Amino acid sequence: MAAPRRKASKAAAPKRSAPAPLAKPSRDEVHEAIRTMIRWAGDDPRREGLLETPDRVARAWEELFQGYNEDPVEFLKGGFEEIEGYDEMVVLRDIRMESHCEHHMMPFVGRVHVAYLPTKRVVGISKLARLVDVYAKRLQIQEKLTAQIANSLNDVLRPRGVGVIVQAVHHCMTTRGVHKSGVEMVTSQMLGAFRDDARTRREFLSIVSGPQGRASES
Ligand SMILES: [Zn+2]
Repeated sequence: MAAPRRKASKAAAPKRSAPAPLAKPSRDEVHEAIRTMIRWAGDDPRREGLLETPDRVARAWEELFQGYNEDPVEFLKGGFEEIEGYDEMVVLRDIRMESHCEHHMMPFVGRVHVAYLPTKRVVGISKLARLVDVYAKRLQIQEKLTAQIANSLNDVLRPRGVGVIVQAVHHCMTTRGVHKSGVEMVTSQMLGAFRDDARTRREFLSIVSGPQGRASES
């Protein structure tokens, strides 16, 4: 039987302050952790073919999770241009996205479509693509990734609206667990005019579901 939970006193309960940040482990500690995982899988990390693996995995992780080292709001702030009266929708569609689910640390891979209605400023295409990367290259859930992209664009550009659609295949569903291949998860976040104005939303959806894109209203 589980031990009875100690009842938290009312004074201590209400505010849960964020725990202090953990120190970053050393490279040696990471190598050791990966050797442990190899043993857990059933293999011997001393085997010739696996000797370099911990270091390769550590370096792969630095690349896959480099989004933790960047502040998207900072680089977006430095990157916009003033516009002379252009007030139509700006859409960037089919931005390649590779991320890892925070539940299984397995890849989910797909495409992102980003749109906004500018007021005074626009942001360069490469900045938008990088914005996607900064959030994707972290441990994620697709819903949060979608919202983070939309909210940071909204905060920095102050447009009349933002629409973000993410379509992705989750390897934790296709290569393990339920083994459902070809299932694509679609998430969207609509802010401002994209949420309030059905015509704006339809225009966005029809652009991204054109010949190259395949998004559908869901
Ligand atoms: Zn997962």
